[in-house]
Amino acid sequence: MTVLSIRDNVEHILAQIAAACARRNRSEDDVQLVAVSKKHPINVIEAAYEAGLRHFGENRVEEASDKVPALRETAPDIVWHMVGHIQSRKSRDIPPLFDVVHSVDSFKLARRLSVAAEGKTAPLDVMLEINISGERAKYGFDANDWSTNIAVRDKLWQNIGQILELPHLNVRGLMTMAPFVDDMEATRPVFAGLAALRDQLQQDFSAPLPDLSMGMTNDFPVAVEEGATIVRIGRAIFSPHETT
Ligand SMILES: *Cc1c(COP(=O)(O)O)cnc(C)c1O
Repeated sequence: MTVLSIRDNVEHILAQIAAACARRNRSEDDVQLVAVSKKHPINVIEAAYEAGLRHFGENRVEEASDKVPALRETAPDIVWHMVGHIQSRKSRDIPPLFDVVHSVDSFKLARRLSVAAEGKTAPLDVMLEINISGERAKYGFDANDWSTNIAVRDKLWQNIGQILELPHLNVRGLMTMAPFVDDMEATRPVFAGLAALRDQLQQDFSAPLPDLSMGMTNDFPVAVEEGATIVRIGRAIFSPHETT
């Protein structure tokens, strides 16, 4: 991938984000593009950096421990996002590598991340991964039918209440992955559901949860229409012939 082809792809994505924002009277400045660079080598990330991208996402701790330190010299102002599942025994590796964690999916992990972040000057920014649809998602807090199923809701509220108490985490909001479907319209209820859950949590806990991390290559225009503040995009940036 050359700098130019990445720049082309990014321009196309930003235009689609702007169009989705316009349809909902949102400002495009309220949507952050995170380039998911997993499996791509350092020189490709440098090309994307040169193309103007500053937010990058990785999904494996091992891979990130090779790539993130190596890029500190050439691309010092990258904001690194962790978007993949974290085994709680790897928690200590997270704060030195990442600025934002999207994939907090258990209280145990949250507690360990809070301990690991203790020495940092600021709390670690995190989002809570939510399993809204029950279909594809392997990870995430169960929120299936949260508005009607009291048991699901009680458990979820208890987990989130405990996480909000942790001293060294800054809980910025919620993250989800929609199931893979042919028609991206079919993802809308998942994204709308995450936004509704966020609204209810904000109200019940009197805690600001400004961010919704949702939307990938297949479905980001719908996610932005439903309120995404962060989209996590890999293929549409790093594939030469993406046609979205
Ligand atoms: C890979 C990945 C993405 C990006 O997916 P694309 O379909 O390549 O845009 C986003 N979020 C997570 C959690 C991922 O693992």
